Amino acid sequence: MLTQSATLATNERIQALRANGVPVTHLAFGEAGLPVAPEIAAALAAAAGRNSYGPTAGIPELRAAAAGYFDRRGLPTAPGQIVAGPGSKPLLHALLSVLPGDVVLPRPSWVSYAAQASLLGKEVVWVPVPEGSGGVPDPALLGPALVAARARGLRPGILVLTLPDNPTGALAGASTVRAVCEIAAEHGLMVISDEIYRDLAHEPGSVLSPAEIIPERTVVTTGLSKATALGGWRLGVCRLPEAELTARLIGVASEIWSNPTTPVQVAAAYVLAEPEPVRAFVAAGLGLHRAVVRAAYETVLAAGAGCPAPGGGFYLYPDLEAARGNASSRADRDAAGSGAGLGGAADLAELLLERYRIGVLPGSAFGDDPRGLRFRLATSLLYGDTDEQRWTALRSTDP
Ligand code: PLP
Repeated sequence: MLTQSATLATNERIQALRANGVPVTHLAFGEAGLPVAPEIAAALAAAAGRNSYGPTAGIPELRAAAAGYFDRRGLPTAPGQIVAGPGSKPLLHALLSVLPGDVVLPRPSWVSYAAQASLLGKEVVWVPVPEGSGGVPDPALLGPALVAARARGLRPGILVLTLPDNPTGALAGASTVRAVCEIAAEHGLMVISDEIYRDLAHEPGSVLSPAEIIPERTVVTTGLSKATALGGWRLGVCRLPEAELTARLIGVASEIWSNPTTPVQVAAAYVLAEPEPVRAFVAAGLGLHRAVVRAAYETVLAAGAGCPAPGGGFYLYPDLEAARGNASSRADRDAAGSGAGLGGAADLAELLLERYRIGVLPGSAFGDDPRGLRFRLATSLLYGDTDEQRWTALRSTDP
């Protein structure tokens, strides 16, 4: 049975602790933790009267704005190549359902890819990420893993990449992305490039999309949840390479969500057109996230832990093997509920929550037991978490 997603379940557990007056430092949920930009809120409010169902693929102004968004990132796009959905998560599920074959995932990778594959009756072929990186399979291991999977009777057909990555926070470099794309093409794989953290790349312009290398084989997904901090609005878009696949995706969408919420689409069209207030908000948010991630990265390295270098987004994925050894030599092991000592990252995450009131996610949530722990670096760690403190921080940041 598929249980509730680890990220959502841990978030709910932490909210329940907080509701009972237990203070928890919440580093477990993939949310930007920024307020809504007033201009974006105004765009939504102005569209409240749009109460009709709309076209399944999205309203024309949103599809045109999303095409412009991709154009500006070096991916020439026609509005007809865009399909919008209620978040990129359901879009990813629908894409996995219309693309044939089993799913190849980097280990570790975002919680929902493997769960969605399993909901669709697809097998997962796990391929470790390159040492010290994330979001893509190690090119040296990918080809042999595909051959071995076929020998076991699997049919690898879809490769999912995350650029920049969740959970590692790393951004795969151009030569690695190129090498992975070449192998994907050689083996006839379609690539889903999840670029939801693209605008939070710590060096703007540092993301090389597979759509630039193997355009006919790549679907790109993104959404409003991260750089513009609108996760609860539920709006994602994808850019498809050809009309037949687009038609199949629209077919699935039409039977599941009909259309994304119309007023949110109007506001999303405003966001994706990237007028100056949106650009300023995204740049300020990036400045904050980069500052908090870098400060935490230095602390992690100073503590002697290994950690992929952060390249974008708001995550770190340290390997706390040393801390695990220390903890299991103290009374902490009891707090972790494991009399024999801490067994892995899952025990350590439990210990951090129960004893130290710090919520993080273990690598097992990302297919990667027993190594890493994922920390979402909330900007509130440095700047406070009232809306007023967040605005003060956003206004003072030097992007
Ligand atoms: N992809 C990745 C890598 C994510 O981290 C998330 C959210 O945490 C999503 C997709 C889903 O985003 P949404 O459905 O809010 O667009």
